[in-house]
Amino acid sequence: MPLRAYINNQEIISIDQDDKQWEDLKKRLKSKEAVVILSCYNQQGFLRTSNKGLKHFVHAKSISHCDWKPESPEHLRAKIEILEACKKNSWKAIPEFSEANWRADVLAIQNHKRIAFEIQWSKQTLEETKLRQERYKESKVRGCWFFRTIPKELREYFRPIKADKELPAFKIFKDDNSNIIVQLKEIQIPLKTFVACLLKSQVKYCEHITLKPMQKVTIIFFMTTCWKCHRPQYLWTVDRNLKTVCNLDFYLMGSMWNNKDLDKNQKIYEAVKGFLKTEQGYNLKIGQLKTRYSKTAEEHYLSYGCYYCDSIFGDWFLRTEKMEGQHDPKSLRYEVEIELEPVRESMPHWCYSENVQFCE
Ligand SMILES: [Zn+2]
Ligand SMILES: [Zn+2]
Repeated sequence: MPLRAYINNQEIISIDQDDKQWEDLKKRLKSKEAVVILSCYNQQGFLRTSNKGLKHFVHAKSISHCDWKPESPEHLRAKIEILEACKKNSWKAIPEFSEANWRADVLAIQNHKRIAFEIQWSKQTLEETKLRQERYKESKVRGCWFFRTIPKELREYFRPIKADKELPAFKIFKDDNSNIIVQLKEIQIPLKTFVACLLKSQVKYCEHITLKPMQKVTIIFFMTTCWKCHRPQYLWTVDRNLKTVCNLDFYLMGSMWNNKDLDKNQKIYEAVKGFLKTEQGYNLKIGQLKTRYSKTAEEHYLSYGCYYCDSIFGDWFLRTEKMEGQHDPKSLRYEVEIELEPVRESMPHWCYSENVQFCE
């Protein structure tokens, strides 16, 4: 549904008109004082208000050679949300804008900057997308895409869409309340909010993910028994719910942490000792974390050990113990905020940060 037309050579955006202005326009048309020309190929049209109150334009029925493709309600809704986000952030926004050999759903303009927003509710191949992106580039326009169905070349199994600096493209879907939502890895953001963030430069392409310096970490204390003296006691492990600077999940490979185990990180150990001084942790028996000799590994390493007899608890043996401990409802969970050393991993992504702190 076109939202833009010319009435007596004046550009009119239907959703910008209040009810009175809209009625006045209708009257002028009726008395033949004015003519509506739709922006696509200069064809005549009419004003209409949908039963949900949306003001828009329609083609005169006699016209058959217009290339206007029917739009889905979702496409229209997305277009309106983008227009509103632009307006709210002082960008000029023109729906259905065409120039040279392209037409954008919404063209956003601020000073010399121009961004074309395109909603692909129906499928479009990567090839076609790249071709259209190239046309925008030739006109010095930055193209930004919202796909309901991601072109298959851009799909990846662990995230919604592969990030490409030259082709800003994001996955959208309609939620249960008919809102259009952007899926950014495991984060979901309403389209309108996301577009506002794009316009405010709160979204940036980054090659790496960086661990957020301050982390909320859950330490899990679980019950175990010494293999040698058979006395029950506790050990700890850390829930790997770490976050990147932009609040995505930061998966550490296995338990490795700069070649050391995150569970044995000095800061974590300090937090463990801190917990033992609290009322909840006061009675827990936990052996020291220190360097011990392992006959199995034939070397000294930083290890857990028995609270009572100081026997080493080998890392290999603890792998299953820790896994079971994580899922044992009897385990104690202790949440702390800890500053960890910076860790970076290669992972191109669109970094979204409202406080403009990016992974870089
Ligand atoms: Zn023991
Ligand atoms: Zn990031």
